[in-house]
Amino acid sequence: MNEFAKIERQEGTNSAPESLHPFSGTAPRFFVFGPAPHGFDREQLQASLHAPYDAIILNRPVGAAEFEDAVAAAADPALPVADLAGNTHLRRDFTGDALDPGCFDAVLKHFSPIWKRLAAFPYRSPDMGAEEMLILRLAYSRAEPISAVLDPAAHGLVRYPLLGARADLRGELENLTEYGLLRRSHFMRTHGCRKCDSARLHAYEACPSCGSSDLQDEAIVHHYRCGAQEAESHFTSGHRLICPKCHDELRHYGVDYDKPGHVVSCRACGAANSEPDPVFICLDCAAVTAGSDLSQKNWYHYELTEEGLQALQTNHLPLLDIAAYVNGRTRVFHQRDFLLLVSEGMRVMRRFERPFALGRIAISNLEELRETRSVTEVSLAFRQAVDAILDSMHDCDFVGADGTAAILIGFPETTAAQAEIALARLRAKVAEAVPLSFAIETSADEGESILDFLIQKENELADE
Ligand SMILES: [Zn+2]
Ligand SMILES: [Zn+2]
Ligand SMILES: [Zn+2]
Repeated sequence: MNEFAKIERQEGTNSAPESLHPFSGTAPRFFVFGPAPHGFDREQLQASLHAPYDAIILNRPVGAAEFEDAVAAAADPALPVADLAGNTHLRRDFTGDALDPGCFDAVLKHFSPIWKRLAAFPYRSPDMGAEEMLILRLAYSRAEPISAVLDPAAHGLVRYPLLGARADLRGELENLTEYGLLRRSHFMRTHGCRKCDSARLHAYEACPSCGSSDLQDEAIVHHYRCGAQEAESHFTSGHRLICPKCHDELRHYGVDYDKPGHVVSCRACGAANSEPDPVFICLDCAAVTAGSDLSQKNWYHYELTEEGLQALQTNHLPLLDIAAYVNGRTRVFHQRDFLLLVSEGMRVMRRFERPFALGRIAISNLEELRETRSVTEVSLAFRQAVDAILDSMHDCDFVGADGTAAILIGFPETTAAQAEIALARLRAKVAEAVPLSFAIETSADEGESILDFLIQKENELADE
């Protein structure tokens, strides 16, 4: 029996559910960076990336790269992390000072609900979008929003502690939001250096003439007799005030002169200004940026939506399917309605002997693109392709998604040969609009050969 178990028994805690991993039903195991104190079970607290573990303990300062290695070697990359060594830059679910039995008990209590939620969706490595899926998984298992915080150590000044030391995931978060998997709320607008985009800026007032910050606020002195009005420093001569214009001495305030206002004068170039410019010097690259030239960035907190939960459940990001981009657009129909329209096209064709064609545009290298490109790149390409197709279609044509990488187009009053021409034109439009190289295959059918297709699709629907 290990120390922890003994203490637990002494304190009379029940056979605490948190002492067992909810999924495996065995005692949870930890990968430990740094020393594991004497008395702990060597199997439960181990230091090998090859043995399975359910959580990570940071018992010494840990670098971002070795941390990511331990996360990547785990069975679930969203596993909880306990930090006992002040690793503020890493993702951590629990912080403490020393790894002793009391602390270990608290870690187990704290991790138990996280393990439960992770076990609800056992981790399977997704084909694509591992980064995005991990974001959703962390948000779900911690049952908390992905909150932004200010962090002076971050180049952009904002960090998401839940996502830890990972590089800037702003793009992924925004992409997930755009397709409804996350919901965002505004946190902060930051301003960036014109040269390096860092938001670590120091604001100061500068002389509009020479840019120096060596400014002083001075009274304006007005000499009644000659009308001279200058900054006070232009009048001072030792302890006396001598007019720079008429060289008279000014003796009595209210009799010889008064001070009608203030002016900001520059010690570097001598210029006097009523309004110095606010400017920003970059703490990272020392470039100076005028207020009006700063770049702006809005930062948000994010929350998981119902759709995001569904993506976790199915282990699939809908934004990797063409359906996510066509559905909801004009002239686009869901499968059942699309098939009804095709049947109607066939009916008109038979009865009135009018031509009707069914075309298909498929992206045949999607698997390859998913392996080599990021979710952001693929989703942008999908959007560009769908826009190009829908924008250059005729009003009477209608569209439906077919699986994850193809769309179907119904062409009323069109022969298959004419549809082939239209499809070739659409293919050229897509090639022009999408920088990512989609391999596009098109085909068109007419007449009774559409019937086989209809029967097959209706059978598929009936099976669902
Ligand atoms: Zn800079
Ligand atoms: Zn100046
Ligand atoms: Zn004077």
